[in-house]
Amino acid sequence: MDPQHIWYPSYGYGEQKGLVIGYYNTGNAARTYAALSPRDREARAVAQGVKIHGEKYRTELEQSFSIAWHRVPYIEGAWAFPNTTSPGFKKLQTGSGNVYFAGDWMSEISAWQHGAFWSARYAVQALHARVMAG
Ligand SMILES: Cc1cc2nc3c(=O)[nH]c(=O)nc-3n(C[C@H](O)[C@H](O)[C@H](O)COP(=O)(O)OP(=O)(O)OC[C@H]3O[C@@H](n4cnc5c(N)ncnc54)[C@H](O)[C@@H]3O)c2cc1C
Repeated sequence: MDPQHIWYPSYGYGEQKGLVIGYYNTGNAARTYAALSPRDREARAVAQGVKIHGEKYRTELEQSFSIAWHRVPYIEGAWAFPNTTSPGFKKLQTGSGNVYFAGDWMSEISAWQHGAFWSARYAVQALHARVMAG
């Protein structure tokens, strides 16, 4: 089905209320949902979820929000996978003048928080080395 993934709460599992990721999709399925209004996305995802969980999936839903990452200005996608062996990438990693770049996309572990931390640390270390070198 086009939700592709339904994600159950990763904490407080089994409690009275929780957060469910109603769809986590890519490709054509993501484009199908992106073309709908948030209200219609919800209706579509719930209709699919009801097939798995029954009517409670609809009646117990309090509220929802959704985001189509490829329609977010400047980011235009959920993840970036640059060519990490290219000279351009290495140059960006070393910064330019007083400017240092950090973000998961600026690491070898794009699309993960681990990469974001790694990249921030890399930038701070580079700055530190520069200051210590006088
Ligand atoms: C759908 C999805 C699912 C994910 N699932 C996982 C997962 O399960 N596990 C995991 O580890 N990672 C996951 N990630 C990746 C994780 O969210 C990112 O790796 C992490 O948030 C990147 O952190 P960051 O600090 O590099 O960038 P961001 O969190 O994107 O922070 C950048 C910030 O800069 C702000 N900004 C942008 N431009 C400007 C400007 N001009 N001036 C001021 N502020 C600006 C933005 O608003 C944003 O708040 C997922 C990402 C997505 C999109």
